[in-house]
Amino acid sequence: MSTLRFFAIKETLNRKPVVITEEKRRSEIFGQNVYDSKKMRQTLTSDAFVSLTNAIEKGGKIDRTIADQIASAMKDWALSKGVTHYTHWFQPLTGATAEKHDAFFETIENNGAIEKFGGTQLVQQEPDASSFPNGGIRNTFEARGYTAWDPTSPAFIYGTTLCIPTVFVAYTGEALDYKTPLLRALQAVDTAAVAVCKYFDKNVKKVNASLGWEQEYFLIDSALVSSRPDIQLTGRTLLGHDSAKGQQLDDHYFGTIPNRAMSYMRDLETECMLLGIPVKTRHNEVAPNQFELAPIYEEANLAVDHNALLMDVMDKVAERHNFKVLFHEKPFKGINGSGKHNNWSLSTDTGVNLLSPGKTPMSNLQFLAFFINTIKAVNDNEELLRAAIASASNDHRLGANEAPPAIISVFIGEQLTHVLNELENVTNGKLSPQEKTDLKLNVVGKIPEILLDNTDRNRTSPFAFTGNKFEFRAVGSRANCANPMTVLNSIVAKQLKDFKIEVDALIIKKDLKKDEAVFNILREYIKKSKSVLFEGNGYGDAWEKEAKKRGLSNNKSTPEALKAKISKKALDLYKDLGVMNATEVEARYEIELEDYIMRIQIEGRVLGDLARNHIVPTAVKYQNILIENVKGLKEIYGKDFKKVSLAQLELIEEISKHIESINKLVNNMTEARRKSNQIKSIEDRASAYCNTVKPLLDDIRYPCDKLELLVDDELWPLTKYRELLFTT
Ligand code: ADP
Ligand code: MG
Repeated sequence: MSTLRFFAIKETLNRKPVVITEEKRRSEIFGQNVYDSKKMRQTLTSDAFVSLTNAIEKGGKIDRTIADQIASAMKDWALSKGVTHYTHWFQPLTGATAEKHDAFFETIENNGAIEKFGGTQLVQQEPDASSFPNGGIRNTFEARGYTAWDPTSPAFIYGTTLCIPTVFVAYTGEALDYKTPLLRALQAVDTAAVAVCKYFDKNVKKVNASLGWEQEYFLIDSALVSSRPDIQLTGRTLLGHDSAKGQQLDDHYFGTIPNRAMSYMRDLETECMLLGIPVKTRHNEVAPNQFELAPIYEEANLAVDHNALLMDVMDKVAERHNFKVLFHEKPFKGINGSGKHNNWSLSTDTGVNLLSPGKTPMSNLQFLAFFINTIKAVNDNEELLRAAIASASNDHRLGANEAPPAIISVFIGEQLTHVLNELENVTNGKLSPQEKTDLKLNVVGKIPEILLDNTDRNRTSPFAFTGNKFEFRAVGSRANCANPMTVLNSIVAKQLKDFKIEVDALIIKKDLKKDEAVFNILREYIKKSKSVLFEGNGYGDAWEKEAKKRGLSNNKSTPEALKAKISKKALDLYKDLGVMNATEVEARYEIELEDYIMRIQIEGRVLGDLARNHIVPTAVKYQNILIENVKGLKEIYGKDFKKVSLAQLELIEEISKHIESINKLVNNMTEARRKSNQIKSIEDRASAYCNTVKPLLDDIRYPCDKLELLVDDELWPLTKYRELLFTT
């Protein structure tokens, strides 16, 4: 066993769980480090409080003197909690979070120093942003972008730094982050949904999208990770033979949480409480060392920020527990990967969840309207939704027989399917009084009962209705939720806008009553959305064939999937809603392609190194031992040595065969990369990486994993799957 592997395992076995004591109730510490509405009220003048609340709730502007007051109050609050620095906290297009800390400390000429933080610093900053991806929006030599305060997401203290959530925009106005388009999409869905709500309830003034994510992750001991350059550099194992025991026994899912993992979770949850991240659920996932964490849902923008912050907190807390968190969608071959289900709904300022049936027929009709419009939005934009979750790492998961396939479909359950079937038969035009009564009593009126025991869950569906929300399950565990949330809210906004226009037209031109018009349009939507509705097994081959017949897209790789992003349809949609202009969309397209290329390039380099500099030399060493052995046997047995050294001779040959194959394949891969790198068009370069470099990763892995089975365990340099997954 290599020394590194030996010490890694030894260290892991010697670890003790970190003792965690929770002295206060969680409800007491919740939000302690957040400058929330309660603290605003306590620390702000009433003018400043009203102005800030207005900005949060209605998007109103905050003038500079008020901003000065808010900054000063925030600073005093932060200083009282031992904070020394502040930062504009943002999410550049790398998908991670970014921060640049400045001290409150300022010197005064001839007069010592003070702690200072003014409105200007609160509202706007100019980070030297030349090194963030911008997809050509900004030339690096005019590296000018600025961060601007997003008051809808409260400032928080992280460590000894006051973090101010911000958007990140170029001076030319284009968004350089994920948050800006998300905020625009949320605005669009708010406007469109409020207009539709007015059919049912005139009092609705605002509709918020809600998001409850479920974060899956792996916890691996940090010493074991250090012994695996592939995990360290790429977040996943690029080689390693299956462990004899993996997840076959289904003994991990919902099992007792191991002690070390448990103390990690409690520590993490305490941090989350302080930061106001309302985490609630924790459990073991399907794979060994795989876990899940889920919060109580929140307004989508805040939920997105909280998830991005959480991932960072998870990394930091893991250090204290000698763990490394793996967010990669597929860290281990043959073992379940990780996702991040995005539970989504829309709710009104009058407290109504629009995807939850209500008590009256009218509120149920409202539910149906939002329910069917969402289905139609997904039906018409399935390819764009697929593009929203595309990444090099999520490609390993989609369609890999454990997660929803690369085909987007909607699952609604048997009873709601029945409801839609009934609605499809609604009369064209005016409805008879009898039909109206029937619909109210027997279709619309029955919905709440139906949903009470909406037990049938289809885990193979990428987009499922789960009683009072839709659950977008194809999102990757590494992803920033902003991207899929921007797409989902945009397509629903567009759909609701169209719906309003069509219903109004029937009311005005055909003289239909409001509910008649709604029924009429919904009937047509049901007919047009048939392709996307699927209740069967999403993992099966049969579905791939069926989906093809229905004309649904099945874009298996990221370069293929991303194309939908820049289709005319998508560009028009974003433009129409004011979510993104063509430059912004194209920039993201380019950045995502670049990210795809880079990740595969890094994987290729790491695997080439591992195969050539770790595996081959080890195999040669072992082969030499065998050769020595055969020589010895020959000395003893003379001419007859072959009889007693058959197995050894076979092994020697087999090892040579694998070494040769590794050598050849690594050369091929270097060549494939070299050729791909010369391709000018980024789109073609990404395709080349996908079609020529990526397959070689699997090809190279094969002989390496075979050698792992042949070579003496004592010599093997890389920590094995059974050790990575079962040493705790
Ligand atoms: P599961 O889907 O695993 O059965 P739940 O139904 O309890 O679990 O919900 C999972 C997630 O859905 C949680 O994060 C929860 O906060 C979120 N959720 C529940 N209701 C809503 C809603 N109206 N909008 C968005 N997310 C929601
Ligand atoms: Mg779920």
